[in-house]
Amino acid sequence: MTTYQVNERGYYGNFGGAFIPEMLYPNVEELRTRYLDIIEEPSFQEEFQQLLKDYVGRPSPLYFAKRLSEKYGTKVYLKREDLNHTGAHKVNNTLGQILLAKRLGKKNIIAETGAGQHGVATATVCALMGMDCIVYMGEVDIERQKPNVGRMKLLGAKVIPAMSGSRTLKDATNEAMRHWISNPVDTHYIIGSVVGPHPYPDMVARFQSVISEEMKWQLKEQTGKEDPDCIIACVGGGSHAMGAFYHYLDREQVRLIGAEAAGLGISTGESAATTFIGRAGVLHGSKTLLMQTEDGQVVEPYSISAGLDYPGIGPVHAHLHDTKRADFFAVTDMEAMAAGMELCRLEGIIPAVESAHALAVLKKEQFKENEVVVINLSGRGDKDLETYLRELKRKTPH
Ligand SMILES: *Cc1c(COP(=O)(O)O)cnc(C)c1O
Repeated sequence: MTTYQVNERGYYGNFGGAFIPEMLYPNVEELRTRYLDIIEEPSFQEEFQQLLKDYVGRPSPLYFAKRLSEKYGTKVYLKREDLNHTGAHKVNNTLGQILLAKRLGKKNIIAETGAGQHGVATATVCALMGMDCIVYMGEVDIERQKPNVGRMKLLGAKVIPAMSGSRTLKDATNEAMRHWISNPVDTHYIIGSVVGPHPYPDMVARFQSVISEEMKWQLKEQTGKEDPDCIIACVGGGSHAMGAFYHYLDREQVRLIGAEAAGLGISTGESAATTFIGRAGVLHGSKTLLMQTEDGQVVEPYSISAGLDYPGIGPVHAHLHDTKRADFFAVTDMEAMAAGMELCRLEGIIPAVESAHALAVLKKEQFKENEVVVINLSGRGDKDLETYLRELKRKTPH
């Protein structure tokens, strides 16, 4: 039987592993040898579950979207990660990682961020735990994402600009790695998606797996059975998609769909649709599919949604793609914006533009009337108000 879980060497089929500079080896090795024991400790689980409930506000509702269902002639349920504290799924992971860091005796937290969402989720849990927080962010992104920079500062984090290269996410990642090498003993590096060297992809997947754990009993309660026919989630690095797929990976009758950002179109050179145009390579410490030039230079990704603007995907998704366990769809900026606006008007929910990519799959795939389709609504759209209003003006100029 094909397994979709990580093996002992940190691989999902042909993808994964830990490609790190030798100086990082002790940190990653400490994490690798201890993460499972710590996560499984009853006292860890007790503290994690309590905070997920009282601080994050879990369980997040599973909502039957009646008007959306009528429009598409199928049964659509929305898993409401947008209702979590801080407005998205990212806090599930940062909370898990900071509790782990505490048990490893770490005093300081570092993170890198592109759009600032992961930076905010990290700064939030650092404030909660009274730990020092440094967030590396490309100078260009600091300029583009001012509200999130403000939030991080307000929460007490120090935001350090990465000034090298294109001054965006990959440069911030390099700076964070460099910091970790120089401060190996007392610092934990919180990675924000199912990416990075083993054991990060598996660790993050476990923290996000609460999503499908809840889906199982919520579906049972509302539909009479645990299994939906299909689960759809957008994929940046793929953390909330993995959380939504996790407990269904081995139930082959449940169809899994990942929605990738096609930006202006997959053949325009302005996209982030890795499964369509990427090739195997090493990014951020693991072997995965990534967008690269002929000679292996990472290509700058583009998407209207900052959270999907990543040149790779997590190694587990590369494997799900390889084995055809999951289907991937490429959704353009325009298709996502239309689907996001539609949800506003049909259900009174303003989704993050990232999440709107998953909603757009309803236009591309016909589901049967009695099929149950769960869409993981990864975040809320407050942060995207300007983007939506620009679109509204374009459509109805008067
Ligand atoms: C960060 C983000 C994503 C993409 O991250 P994944 O690791 O792919 O889940 C998607 N939606 C929202 C709202 C985000 O903030």
